[in-house]
Amino acid sequence: MVNTCWVKDCTNRAGGSVKRSFYTIPVVRKFEGEQTKTLSEERRRTWLANINRKDLPSSYSKICSDHFIQGRPADLYNRSHPDWAPTLKLGTLSDPLKTKKKIKAVKTDMERYKRMQHRRKTREEHDIAKTLLGLQHFHETSVAQEGKKATESVNPVCSLTVKGKKEPDQEPTPKTNSVSWSEVDSETQHQILGNTQLKDRSSSYKMTQCVLLNKQDI
Ligand SMILES: [Zn+2]
Repeated sequence: MVNTCWVKDCTNRAGGSVKRSFYTIPVVRKFEGEQTKTLSEERRRTWLANINRKDLPSSYSKICSDHFIQGRPADLYNRSHPDWAPTLKLGTLSDPLKTKKKIKAVKTDMERYKRMQHRRKTREEHDIAKTLLGLQHFHETSVAQEGKKATESVNPVCSLTVKGKKEPDQEPTPKTNSVSWSEVDSETQHQILGNTQLKDRSSSYKMTQCVLLNKQDI
């Protein structure tokens, strides 16, 4: 079947020397949800307004790819795309100046659309980067806090000093900048006590060694 472009003054036909695609005038899609129905109604209205013919198209009426900036209509749901409806060479072929102005205008639309898309993409990428940085910061803070806890547990600050005699058994009072002994959790307290006992044993051992050495000196 031979298709002739439905746009007034456009004589392009399918099967001509220049290869062109042909697109049916959009119909209203009534049974695919309210959004699709509304969009398809608006789209059909826009197409017919842009083509600007007095008669209505039949189900066989098609327009050629010359009327779209990118050679084909954009997706129904991509409402902001300049090719959502045909914009080029629409009944103004007899006035080259008008055509020139129109082409310039739609090219500007296309450039604006691309800038808008680029900005949106950049914004999305920034949002993703910010989210990732936030996650990384959260992770590093958590790791640092865990590391600090672990260090405090393994190397608790102990006030005991060994000066040749063993101090009486008493509850050690670790001096930390911000945490009092009563605020230290039981596990840490247990580790501190263990550490203190080890230190005591170590000092006792050193004292014994000193005594033995002194005896040998005598
Ligand atoms: Zn055409």
